[in-house]
Amino acid sequence: MDSLLALIIDLHLSNARQGPGRDDFSQQALDFTQLDQEKELQIADIGCGSGSQSIFLAKQLQGTVYAVDLYPPFLQELERRSAGLELKATIETLEGDMANLPFSKNSLDLIWAESSIYNIGFKTGLSHWKNFLKPGGYMVVSELSWLRDRRPKPIAEYWKLGYPGIQNIAGNIQTICDLNLISIAHFGIDEAAWLDDFYQPLAANFDAFLKRHPDSPDAESIVDQEINEMELYRKYKDYYNYVFYIIQKPY
Ligand code: SAH
Repeated sequence: MDSLLALIIDLHLSNARQGPGRDDFSQQALDFTQLDQEKELQIADIGCGSGSQSIFLAKQLQGTVYAVDLYPPFLQELERRSAGLELKATIETLEGDMANLPFSKNSLDLIWAESSIYNIGFKTGLSHWKNFLKPGGYMVVSELSWLRDRRPKPIAEYWKLGYPGIQNIAGNIQTICDLNLISIAHFGIDEAAWLDDFYQPLAANFDAFLKRHPDSPDAESIVDQEINEMELYRKYKDYYNYVFYIIQKPY
């Protein structure tokens, strides 16, 4: 693991979540699925981070939640957090690449991915993951999406560099349809889910993080970048949001 990556993980590891969101939005998304909650379900949480959604899903549903992440420190943190909790489903952590998942074809009832599919791109992710779903199974994915088609230059350029694959909502729904999947619903999260549940807890780590890595230009630059992204969010939040897409594989 290169040191920049280790630093980024160190900054984010202690937080409840590594992307914007909140349990009531996860619940809203889950409510759009018509999963039989009395049954033992096979569920995958892809790019699970420290496991906020794996734990949420294991509290709501029965069966097994496979919590997948590329980086072991997140999986260890998830195991620490979930130990001793009263859960309906069993959580199994799995170190792996979302671009090359180890599941069998047609084996999963639900694939969940909050603010993680961007690592391989919305279309690449959905087209790989749909193979693992049972017919009639669901994918719930939250993805950074443009809300307006005329964008001020600073924010257009920021995301062009940071996430060139970002599309508007219509574009993402078109991608879902092009993959012969069914678009069941979509909705955006609120401002508090960005600021109170993600950026503020992250900003609360900055001082301790910089103290743990004194005289590290990389650590300083990571903090500067996060501060810049937060400022852009405050300024341009009307132009983009994390949007949940609830998707079904046809029977
Ligand atoms: N879903 C969590 C974490 C989102 S951050 C939450 O919302 O809190 C994105 C996560 O994807 C990180 O934990 C990162 O380690 C993981 N990730 C990045 N690239 C990955 C890959 N290729 N395969 C699996 N996980 C990956």
